[in-house]
Amino acid sequence: YQGKRGASRIVLYSGEDAAAPTQWLVVQAELRHAIERDELVLFYQPKVRLADGSTYGVEALVRWQHPQRGLLPPPEFLPAAEQSGLIEPLTAWVLRRALSDQAQWTAAGRPWSVSVNVSARNLEAPGFARSVALALEEFGTPPERLTIEVTETAMAGDARTAVQVLGELAALGVDVAVDDFGIGYTCLSQLRTLAVREIKIDREFVRGIEDDAQDRAIVRSVIELAHGLGCRVTAEGVETAQAQRWLVDAGCDDAQGYLFARPAPWAELLERTDPADTATPTAVSAPQ
Ligand code: C2E
Ligand code: MG
Ligand code: MG
Ligand code: MG
Repeated sequence: YQGKRGASRIVLYSGEDAAAPTQWLVVQAELRHAIERDELVLFYQPKVRLADGSTYGVEALVRWQHPQRGLLPPPEFLPAAEQSGLIEPLTAWVLRRALSDQAQWTAAGRPWSVSVNVSARNLEAPGFARSVALALEEFGTPPERLTIEVTETAMAGDARTAVQVLGELAALGVDVAVDDFGIGYTCLSQLRTLAVREIKIDREFVRGIEDDAQDRAIVRSVIELAHGLGCRVTAEGVETAQAQRWLVDAGCDDAQGYLFARPAPWAELLERTDPADTATPTAVSAPQ
């Protein structure tokens, strides 16, 4: 986990508190069992077309149903997973569960694509693209129904490996999205070499569009950049109708956010959506 909240968690655990290192180890030990005992849960957040709010896909967001501590959000345990190597079995679990859930909602008349988040560590593990190919095969999933989301900061590490692995995923026919765009350090020439279909503008900037001229300028440039590269652009964290309207006017394609739906188990999303509101997949916008 590379987000800001994740970073503050790390500070918390590595602080002066003598219990902190122990707690860290406890989380790691428990997490190992959590994967084996099936305590992880996937919530899904709709991804919508901005213009009409129709759902075309969902993003898988992992939670941990901890026996004592309740439902834990990713910042509570992803840093521990990433530092202990548990991120590999965790991602493998998330991917297989997401593809298996997708087969079910597709059968229920919602042909939503699914987006899965992966960490920098996953891209560095040998054979990652091959493991994705095997999972697609196992569930009979058409590759274009899967999007792999990689944070911009994840690509800043071992950039050459990331570029190669993302290229392998694209060659499989899987879509690649750059997550949390704007807060990292992707240089533009690197972006050009990446096989990216979607750029997701970090919600830090989306939050500011109602009252911050600088955030608006950044969001406008990212939309233009994404379209220039032939990518779709998604606004993360859209919470108000005012933000939605501004983004539509600015030419943003897609969105996620509490305005449309909070993450929930897929069966709940099914109850709350009409099959008629499912958008058909559209091609990537042509470079302008
Ligand atoms: P992300 O991939 O950028 O996911 C978006 C996060 O923003 C989610 O938090 C989501 O619940 C939250 N969100 C969505 N709409 C809104 C909104 O309108 N307002 C606000 N304030 N928040 C909104 P969540 O579920 O806590 O996940 C946090 C991060 O954890 C994710 O950020 C992603 O980087 C990571 N993550 C989640 N699931 C996985 C996973 O299965 N594997 C890996 N490697 N990382 C994951
Ligand atoms: Mg994401
Ligand atoms: Mg994001
Ligand atoms: Mg984020």
